[in-house]
Amino acid sequence: MIDRCFNSACKKRLCYLRDGRVVRVIRSENGHLHVEHFWLCGPCYTVYDFAFSEEGIPFLKARLSDTFEHLHEITAA
Ligand SMILES: [Zn+2]
Repeated sequence: MIDRCFNSACKKRLCYLRDGRVVRVIRSENGHLHVEHFWLCGPCYTVYDFAFSEEGIPFLKARLSDTFEHLHEITAA
């Protein structure tokens, strides 16, 4: 379970889920479903957003003025 900000340069402890953004990633791996949660704290979420690789691996993406929605299967908690 998540307990730290996803930004490795931040690592703020998770206190309030309503702060920032939580994403749930459901991946199918060898016939098994893996559910993972990732959290970005409020300050980090103003600068970064989640982006996802083809395999559903999350990484940080700096926000741009012309951001657009991703079409991956992601459910915000
Ligand atoms: Zn943070």
